[in-house]
Amino acid sequence: MTKLRLAIVGAGPAGIYAADILLKAERKFDVSIDLFDHLPAPYGLVRYGVAPDHPRIKGIIGALRDVLDSGRIRLFGNVHYGRDITLDDLKNHYNAVIFATGAVRDAGMAVPGIDLEGSYGAAEFVSWYDGHPDVPRDWPLRHREVAVIGNGNVALDVARILAKPADDLLVTEIPENVYSGLMQSPVTDVHVFGRRGPAQVKFTPLELRELGELNDVDMVVHDEDFEPDEASRLAIETNKQIFVLNKVLNSWRTRPRTGASRRLHLHFWAKPLEIVDDGTGSVGAFRYERTRPDGQGGVEGTGEIREVPVQAVYRAIGYFGSPLDEIPFDRRRGVIPNREGQVLDDDDQLVHGVYATGWIKRGPVGLIGHTKSDAMETVRNLANDQANWWIPSSADEQSVIELLDSRGVEYTDLGGWHRLDQHELGLGAPAGRGRVKVVDRDEMVTVSRAGDVAVADGADGPDRAERVGSIALT
Ligand SMILES: Cc1cc2nc3c(=O)[nH]c(=O)nc-3n(C[C@H](O)[C@H](O)[C@H](O)COP(=O)(O)OP(=O)(O)OC[C@H]3O[C@@H](n4cnc5c(N)ncnc54)[C@H](O)[C@@H]3O)c2cc1C
Repeated sequence: MTKLRLAIVGAGPAGIYAADILLKAERKFDVSIDLFDHLPAPYGLVRYGVAPDHPRIKGIIGALRDVLDSGRIRLFGNVHYGRDITLDDLKNHYNAVIFATGAVRDAGMAVPGIDLEGSYGAAEFVSWYDGHPDVPRDWPLRHREVAVIGNGNVALDVARILAKPADDLLVTEIPENVYSGLMQSPVTDVHVFGRRGPAQVKFTPLELRELGELNDVDMVVHDEDFEPDEASRLAIETNKQIFVLNKVLNSWRTRPRTGASRRLHLHFWAKPLEIVDDGTGSVGAFRYERTRPDGQGGVEGTGEIREVPVQAVYRAIGYFGSPLDEIPFDRRRGVIPNREGQVLDDDDQLVHGVYATGWIKRGPVGLIGHTKSDAMETVRNLANDQANWWIPSSADEQSVIELLDSRGVEYTDLGGWHRLDQHELGLGAPAGRGRVKVVDRDEMVTVSRAGDVAVADGADGPDRAERVGSIALT
């Protein structure tokens, strides 16, 4: 029987789902899968994007872990495609590669003042509070008034984490540096700005409602924003999600303020014009133009200019993919050009043996669940494309390990991830927390590669027993 030696680059949900679907699929060939990730730990943005106070979503990691623990996938963490392993290497060792490298950068925003001190991308802040190893440990949380630009769930995540009392995050996996950073934050007012109206937001109801449940935070909305035009009225009447969102937003119009020490303001119909310099090269204010519906589903400026004093601005207007060495890239959309997951070159011709899935395939929109249907499509095309797979010169599984070893790559494997996982659970146990993340990359690698590492105190509980059970499976 033919054997497909498959490399998947990116151990986020898209890469892991692709492996799972392929392994479970009815097929006429055997499969052996190696999953590479640039980070020493798997799960991509589920670990480093999903907010720490969303344990239910973080819980998806359990399902992804089961896939890795099936014993049929090898994990190579701390391996960066383009540096530690190249396209030629993949061609030498595999029949095909699926890129599932996601999108981790902030999309750019062309407004004057975007480069001022105090102007940040949401992705950088998210990486910081989620303990990403490659961002600085300190975040400049020294501002009382802050703007967040965007009307999607990432804007809500950023606004919520900025406004939430740090102690309320202590039950989560946030690392110590994040807790102490947030503890010292003097923030009093977080202003969220959207270009369109309350009936056009991209929030989901659960995430919006959550804002109103924060301790010691008053919600502030403005009556002038709630005069729906015909299209908005229709949307509220016909779309259940918009109906619920509208109900939540309207409930805050009449809710009395409690005198909370922090306020979270939602501003609609606000088109960013400029991040205003305070005279020292730092953010001093956010200037915007009021908009109104243009009657064609969009908005137009009203000419009314307003300014809100803020000392920091976070833009949460979307993520953007990064180009990969020797792989075609659409610089406008930030994706790998593809036809249903089959990668295309500049002349729209198929690049044999190369596939894409997840956010790098279709752009940074959609929930984790969407990466599953994505993966299904990509895997189907890969499976049907056998005639065009590469013919590797060294297809045996040991040869990749020898290659990485010969280059001195300190890769981490599945056993290593289990060790790090245990270690993090152990760090959380004494304080009754589920986990405390290790942030430092060297420490992550050291714990992972330590073989019989001493597990941090407190890891001996029912959870440990259950997890050790799953280790034995691999
Ligand atoms: C802030 C934020 C909050 C979110 N919250 C939710 C939520 O609550 N619920 C929900 O359903 N969805 C949420 N999402 C969306 C969800 O995270 C994505 O749908 C999903 O993670 C996309 O999966 P992916 O595998 O394509 O990319 P990713 O999860 O980004 O995984 C890509 C992986 O590729 C690796 N990689 C990248 N480049 C290389 C390279 N050169 N070499 C090797 N490896 C590489 C990365 O390290 C990463 O592990 C959120 C997204 C963000 C940004």
